[in-house]
This record gives sequence, structure tokens and C-alpha cells, in this order.
Amino acid sequence: MPSKMRMIGCALVLRLFFVPIAAAQAPPTPGFPPIPIDATEDQVRQGVALVRAGQKLTPKAWPNGARVAVCLSFDVDNELLWRTTPLPVPLSQGEYGATTGLPRVLDLLDRYSIPASFYIPAMSAALHPQIIQNILQRKRHEIGVHGWMHENLPTVADAAKEEQLLTQSIEYLTKATGKRPVGFRAPSWAFSQSTLDQIRKAGFLYDSSFMAMDEPYELLSNGQKTGMIELPINWIADDYPYYEPQAAGSLPDPQLVFDVYKGEFDVAYQEHSLFILTMHPHITGHRSRIAALEKLIVYMRSMQGVWFATLEQVADYVKTQEKEAKK
Ligand SMILES: [Zn+2]
Repeated sequence: MPSKMRMIGCALVLRLFFVPIAAAQAPPTPGFPPIPIDATEDQVRQGVALVRAGQKLTPKAWPNGARVAVCLSFDVDNELLWRTTPLPVPLSQGEYGATTGLPRVLDLLDRYSIPASFYIPAMSAALHPQIIQNILQRKRHEIGVHGWMHENLPTVADAAKEEQLLTQSIEYLTKATGKRPVGFRAPSWAFSQSTLDQIRKAGFLYDSSFMAMDEPYELLSNGQKTGMIELPINWIADDYPYYEPQAAGSLPDPQLVFDVYKGEFDVAYQEHSLFILTMHPHITGHRSRIAALEKLIVYMRSMQGVWFATLEQVADYVKTQEKEAKK
């Protein structure tokens, strides 16, 4: 084949392979039109304005002169991650979170008297009513909202429906725990156009779904202060990308995952900041992985001035310090 023909042939192959793949990777989400390449600066600003980072809220000092605040958090999703394809064997991977993962996590936290925050979709608690009882028995953990059915909020694509699910979730957890939850973590960390307005209206103290900083900050919405405290998460300090999907992830060695988490903690410690780890009982609750988490806890406890707290305790403290600073 002459070289020009070969080039055309290659170009065709590239088009055939890469255009559909690229398109398949980024389907447009309802309510979020793409920002066109010829958009004006104003249009670009508008395109990113829905939720932005506002002022930093890290206090001058943590309680009792601690250098760093550490929050261990667990999203108790269990079977609901397979809601749209509920085949029996994958469902059992989620069920493991309730039968084995969570009890193991709670025992580990007991051994070191560490508090933690648990974000529970209402229907996950309904499938396993003992989850909430077992967490509450410890008397030092927090339970927060994580959707009704682990619904992906942008794809609900109906503000009234979304608000109804939020209200139901709050009511369910309030009744089951005897306390209205103050923390919100969006299922799959996904916000719709309405989510921030709705959680403000519902009176949440804090959100934990965004990634614009490593430290507490205030959420802005369309350039306006919201008063909503953000306690940020990120994919680096999350068990999911390392161990899932199919429990045979891209970095399955718990020692390597320990190294990453330790690296995140060490710099948070140097920066006198905040370290939030996001885990799932059905993922981290496995034997080799819980051992790695225990090693991390032992390491962090060996350092001077580490404040283990729930996200609620951190948000409360941040809010109090903010008020004091304004006096
Ligand atoms: Zn989740």
C-alpha cells in the first residue's frame, strides 16, 4: 500500500476505534451540557460555577493542640452497588459487608477506642437492621446520610423526586438512630443541579462529597457563600479504586495501599491539616485489608498529637472556631 494510502487507512482505523470509545467514556449527564470549545470566558466561568471552593476553614489549632485531625469514614453501600444488575453472586459480595466486613471494622475500632463516621443508604440499613444497632452500641460513632437507594443524583434528573428521596432518607435514619443526621455524603460523590440547595434547606451541618482542597472549606454556589462546611474526600484516600471492581483491583496488595494512605496522612500531619479516609465495609472488611488498616491505625496512633474524630466533631469544631474568629 502506498504510504499516503497507508496513512489514510490508519486515520480510518483511528477514527473507527477511538471516536466511539471516547464518546462512550463521557456520556452527557442530564442537566450538565458540555462547555463548548468556543465558549466565551464568561460562559466557561458559568459552566464551572455551580459548586466551587470558598474560604479555607482549617482552624488555627485543633483541640488540645493536636497537629492533625483524622477521620475514618465508611460508606455502608453493601448490596446497593449492584442495584441495577442484581445478580445473586455479585450481591453476595455486598452482603459480605453486613455479615462480616462491618463487624470486623467495628471490632477493630473498639480495640483502639477510635470513633468513625458511617454513611448509610436507608435501604442498606433496611436490608440489615442490625447495622445501625451495632454501630450505635459503641456510643462513639456518627451515622450520616448516603441516599435512599444509593441513587446517582444527577441521573434522578427530577428535583422534586430527588428532594423526596432526601427527605425519606433523613426521616428513616432519624427514626432508626433517634437523632437527626447532620452529615451528608452524596452516593457515588455525585451532585445534581439541585443537591446543594436541597441539603442547605434540609439544614445539614456539613457535606463530604467534594475534592477542591485537602482541608475543610466553605462551599460556594454560583459565586455566593452557602455557609455549608465541606469536609473533602478524594479518590487517593478511598479503598474503591485499589480493590474494586470484582475484588481484583489494579493495586490489590494491601501493603501498597497502606503506603499510599500513610503518605497522605504524613503530609496532612506536616501541614497541621485534615486526613479523611473513605472505606467500605464490603471492601476493606476483608481479612488482608483490615490487617493493613490496623497497621495504619497503629502507625497514626504512634504519632504525637493526632485527633481521631468523627466528621461531625470536626465540623462542629470548625464552626465554633469560625464563630470565635468573627467576634
Ligand atoms: Zn456509596
